Amino acid sequence: MRSTMQETPLGIPTLLRFASTVYSGSQVHTVTADGLRTASFAEVGARTAQLAHALHDDLGIRGDQRVATFMWNNQEHLEAYFAVPSMGAVLHTLNIRLYPDQVTYIANHAEDKVVLVDGSLIPLLARVLPGFETVEHVVVVGAGDPAPLEAAGKQIHRYEDLLAGKPTTYDWPEFVETDAAAMCYTSGTTGNPKGVVYSHRSIYLHSMQVAMPQSFQLTEANQVLTIVPMFHAMAWGIPYAALMSGASLVMPDRFLQAPALVRAINEAKADFAGAVPTIWADVLNHLDATGEKIPTLQRAVVGGSAVPPALMQAFEERYGMRIIHAWGMTETSPLGCVSQPPAGTEGELAWSYRVTQGRFPAGVQARLAGPDGSIVPNDGEAVGELEVRGPWIAASYYRGEDPERFRDGWLRTGDVGTITPDGFLTLTDREKDVIKSGGEWISSVELENHLMAHPAVAEATVVGVPDPRWQERPLAAVVLREGAGATPEELREYLSGLIPKWQLPERWTFLASVPKTSVGKFDKKEVRRAYAAGELEVTVL
Ligand code: AMP
Repeated sequence: MRSTMQETPLGIPTLLRFASTVYSGSQVHTVTADGLRTASFAEVGARTAQLAHALHDDLGIRGDQRVATFMWNNQEHLEAYFAVPSMGAVLHTLNIRLYPDQVTYIANHAEDKVVLVDGSLIPLLARVLPGFETVEHVVVVGAGDPAPLEAAGKQIHRYEDLLAGKPTTYDWPEFVETDAAAMCYTSGTTGNPKGVVYSHRSIYLHSMQVAMPQSFQLTEANQVLTIVPMFHAMAWGIPYAALMSGASLVMPDRFLQAPALVRAINEAKADFAGAVPTIWADVLNHLDATGEKIPTLQRAVVGGSAVPPALMQAFEERYGMRIIHAWGMTETSPLGCVSQPPAGTEGELAWSYRVTQGRFPAGVQARLAGPDGSIVPNDGEAVGELEVRGPWIAASYYRGEDPERFRDGWLRTGDVGTITPDGFLTLTDREKDVIKSGGEWISSVELENHLMAHPAVAEATVVGVPDPRWQERPLAAVVLREGAGATPEELREYLSGLIPKWQLPERWTFLASVPKTSVGKFDKKEVRRAYAAGELEVTVL
């Protein structure tokens, strides 16, 4: 029997129409050198229509052509987030922090036609633009001398000139909810980055999940500081979820250092934020060093890599801010799970849930594949590679690349861990980062979490390095806090009370900072490379 229900498509034009009328008074604040610049959702809606007219009439965008952004988080980037998919084209967010040849590869792979670039990023784009084979137009947002772009032979426009005088409404075309709306490439630590193509439907459903109480709990009352870049996994879906829920947005643009973030939190009275752990570690150091406070900031969702429990505790005890741990990946839109403790739990028990990667929502099914590929139980004990499926999980990569990452309709995440019967995921590692010592696995994440709880340690990463006897052994790379001192012997002694003896690292090195990837994760590949090349000063105990 067919249902008798309507099949109105789920998608971004619906969100846009809704937000710019019903929540017309909600706001988008962009941080500038001179304070906040603010626009209402109604104004953003009108400018979104103007941008769509410009892309269609002046730049000739038709059908599902790709419009790329090379931008920070700001109001204009948000306008592109809505204009491009709503007009039927595909938004492609370029990661400005990738190596030049990777950015070029991605722009060509996606066959971008137009690039919107922030004025402050012109020098960075100029290095790669000549290699962008399919791009015809570059649109400069804000001030900035476009001269460095000219050598590439593209047509150059100014964003505000294009919008000026355009109608503030647009007759958004009919769309099919499963059509492409946006694409984002994985950050690609191995091999070429892969394209993930989100549909209108997947974005709409994902936004609902993001806003839900079990996830970020967003409402019209919130002021959301979106630190996670809009070029990294669609800023965790926060921009779309904000327009769906009426939450106001605070966009930090290029002002991403801890002092500027703290200023933005206080100026905009942000009460919710999203960023990777390394950003929060910087903010914490800054607050501790200056005595500044962040009284309005009540909650922050933190993911992208494992959040050290010590960081969660420090923010909660010293600054009254609750860190909500979450797990996801570009392939999962990215919300996979969020760590809200079960109702009725408190104290130690609640903490034991909060430090996990989170609980899967109804829209994400999860299972674990053991070493031989067979499914192991979600009993909180059995360890395996996490596989997920659901309406906002990728079914393939763009152009069908890397098909082995998918099996029987499930995405193989490459993350290893356990799942409890009540749906909480604990990751012990990436498959390629797990340390295989004498046939046993050592969790690098667990070692890192313990080390980062030591008062003298600012950051620590642990990688497996070749060992003639055990195949691999852990190398601990530690960054000490300013003015603090600790020897490898002391750190090993400290760890010996916390983990089994056979897991204690023998090899220790001290670094000025842990190398980071383009999206702020510890770059373990680089640490392994530096070790292999003999570039690290290593103490062996
Ligand atoms: P990306 O696609 O760049 O967002 O990277 C996704 C990967 O980041 C996941 O597959 C995990 O390995 C890692 N990741 C994301 N969130 C977490 C988390 N909360 N804890 C540990 N690893 C995480």
